[in-house]
Amino acid sequence: MPAITNHMPTAELQALDAAHHMHPFSTQTQVAEKGARIITSADGCWLTDSEGERILDGMAGLWCVNVGYGRDELAEAAARQMKELPYYNTFFMTSHVPAIALAAKLAEIAPGDLNHVFYAGSGSEANDTNLRMVRTYWAEKGQPERNIILARTNGYHGSSVGSGSLGGMAGIHSQGGLPIPDIHHIPQPDWWSEGGDMTPEDFGLARAQELEKAILHYGPERVGAFIAEPVQGAGGVIVAPDTYWPEIQRIVDKYGILLIADEVICGFGRTGQWFGSQTLNIKPHIMTIAKGLSSGYQPIGASIVCDEVNAVISACEFNHGYTYSGHPVACAVALENIRLLEEEGIVDKVGAETAPYLKEKWESLADHPMVGEAKIVGMMASIALTPDKTTRAAFAADAGTVGYMCRERCFANNLVMRHVGDRMIISPPLVISKEEIDILIDRARTSLDECMAQAKEKGLFPA
Ligand SMILES: *Cc1c(COP(=O)(O)O)cnc(C)c1O
Repeated sequence: MPAITNHMPTAELQALDAAHHMHPFSTQTQVAEKGARIITSADGCWLTDSEGERILDGMAGLWCVNVGYGRDELAEAAARQMKELPYYNTFFMTSHVPAIALAAKLAEIAPGDLNHVFYAGSGSEANDTNLRMVRTYWAEKGQPERNIILARTNGYHGSSVGSGSLGGMAGIHSQGGLPIPDIHHIPQPDWWSEGGDMTPEDFGLARAQELEKAILHYGPERVGAFIAEPVQGAGGVIVAPDTYWPEIQRIVDKYGILLIADEVICGFGRTGQWFGSQTLNIKPHIMTIAKGLSSGYQPIGASIVCDEVNAVISACEFNHGYTYSGHPVACAVALENIRLLEEEGIVDKVGAETAPYLKEKWESLADHPMVGEAKIVGMMASIALTPDKTTRAAFAADAGTVGYMCRERCFANNLVMRHVGDRMIISPPLVISKEEIDILIDRARTSLDECMAQAKEKGLFPA
């Protein structure tokens, strides 16, 4: 077989891809029929595909390429570390400089007394760590029955057995016998689709009080932790009403349960500050991080743990860890990535300049006839597509039918914008410029127009 390179014809690459590569979250027969779009290189906010087309990446890969593509500094940090020490583990009383340096740096930038880092290879793995860590914490404190973890419907925490159980995605739960026992979900704070006649403020409060109801239902002596994303990402960039998080914090404090903030998307500048917990003013005991931690240049995740939980866990042998926990190359790249975010003022610039600019442009999309609410926090945003914005109606087709049509129009117009059901979402690299934001909005508008025309033809939008 010849070497497989970028220079093979696209059709041949697509055929080999469909024949041998099983894609995550995809229907493989569809991959085979249509052929995957093959990305060959990238720079800044722009992808290049195997046909030489340039595509604006409105999703930063999968919400992760915060510093943008093509940063030589990160490639060099990886190469340096590979030459010096490509691998060593952190089990059994050993350590190495990159793991130490990154942990110290994370303790410095994380809020409050989140001072201790347990490494993983991904967000899913880090949440599996959290699951076992909080149950171990309560067991060590003499309350082993306090093993229930509450989470939210339509939350996303990964797709391994543990993290997929913490997540509240019906599609994930329907395969492989999830959720595992003693994980329960409360309804999400999605006012647009579930708020009915309530004001967003009343609805936010009511949805937060679902946490208290669940604690009382299962018994406060049984509930160990609550996990949530500060802003739900994969669920469709659902921004809770302002009343939601203060009430959640009150309830968590009142019952003394641990709060796990899943910062895998929100962390590292996405919300305009270093962590979503800062933007939303919440005080987690554990934060899950991954994605923007290395800007996706290396697979790495971690749990950042507060002093109190660390003290309890440190006193026992925690029988948990991954071969690649604290992988030296991944740690070196993450450390260099944080240096870029900090020294180039990327996070500060998002908060002060680019996010406010994107907000103004993004919210202007709400004047489009097919767009209902437009939501945005920092550099993550969504719009709800609807045939009738006054009633917040759903389309007369399966959820996601029109969203997928819109996504396809975007892709054809060389913009990556994802759909979750009938919400369209973006999460661009944090280094996106104002000029690139203008291009993004232009292409989004063109795609919305084209999608609306198609929806009218199919009788899904009033003529
Ligand atoms: C992506 C994601 C995860 C899972 O991370 P992986 O690295 O894909 O395992 C967990 N939590 C949130 C909020 C995510 O967005």
